[in-house]
Amino acid sequence: MISREDIRALAEFQGSGADCAISFYYQPERPSNKSHRQQSILAKDLVRQALHEAEKNGRNGWARADLQRILDRAGEWQGNRARAKAVFACGSRDLWREFDLPPQLANTQLFVNRRFHLKELALVLGGQPHLWLAFVDRHRARFFDLQLDEVKEREALFRTLPRRGRGDGFAGYDAGHAERSVHDEVLHHFKNVAEFLKQGLEKGAFDRLIIGCQDIYWHEFEAQLHPYVKKRLLGRLAAEVGSVTEEQVREQGERILRESLTQHRHDQVREVLSQARSNGRGVTGLRRVLRSLEIGEVQVLLMAENYSAHAVECGSCGHLDAHMVRYCPVCGRSTRELEDVCEAIVPAAIRRDVELVYVKQEPEFDQIGGIAALLRFRADQKKGGVAAAS
Ligand SMILES: [Zn+2]
Repeated sequence: MISREDIRALAEFQGSGADCAISFYYQPERPSNKSHRQQSILAKDLVRQALHEAEKNGRNGWARADLQRILDRAGEWQGNRARAKAVFACGSRDLWREFDLPPQLANTQLFVNRRFHLKELALVLGGQPHLWLAFVDRHRARFFDLQLDEVKEREALFRTLPRRGRGDGFAGYDAGHAERSVHDEVLHHFKNVAEFLKQGLEKGAFDRLIIGCQDIYWHEFEAQLHPYVKKRLLGRLAAEVGSVTEEQVREQGERILRESLTQHRHDQVREVLSQARSNGRGVTGLRRVLRSLEIGEVQVLLMAENYSAHAVECGSCGHLDAHMVRYCPVCGRSTRELEDVCEAIVPAAIRRDVELVYVKQEPEFDQIGGIAALLRFRADQKKGGVAAAS
């Protein structure tokens, strides 16, 4: 399983001299689609073409060895349709990382560059929180861990069964007493479950939570949830605790997550457009976004899913510029052209812990150029803001 540290390490990689950073994404063919041989033929074609390019450009033997190894691996993956793969390699730096991914890539792709191509990785992992699904009823609680598309059942909690058959007093009184005590025990059980969730959150065991609980118990259980835990709640589903299967957990979890991500994206697009219009904590267009990234203002970077733009990068200080200038306006050294600015801004965003949001089906967002950022602060308005507040 790929971790945030893995991605960050890849984002920090910067090739120099003859280093070749090779990124390979392999998407298996769905059984319902064309024959899976198609993908392996495509993969082989891509790699052979890259080998040819590498020879033409006089790239070092390391790149060729890496590509050959990828070709061999792609042959071995043919039989496995359940997993997509990502390989990041730079032989001259003795680097080879291979990861399993959920089979949700748009297609099989290969990139040879100075940096690793992380957009697809960010696309698959972006907004893929570490999710817990907690199923609760009056007697039990079961906890499932859902990360990417892997499900693991964790602990289960049970409440102690009520004592029965101790009725030697007045029948009416006893019945009421027994009921109260069952109710107390259920409440105690709900409190335990809520406490378990609170501790899980504090330990960083999950980022987001989905609760499976029947309508009739929900109100009472919800009242026990810690406010911090409630904030992490993505949704609730009505489910039978005893019979829920891993397959259901995966399906339901992914569905709720997808819906909430779509809503989240939509809200952020509205937010950034409104902030940019009012000259608040939002900027739109490549030039402004690059500037904000450079001065560390950006909290969330929003890009149209197929965004791409030319830009230049300073080989010395790393400055990125939307104007195709030959010399860096910051340090005066020569710049080099980037065919796609994403090659540089995606790793820069990952290194700076900027949330990356890929926007789709938002016509208004395309109209503003397909790139925007929500800011933590606005450097040029800091003084004004303080003055206005005082
Ligand atoms: Zn420079």
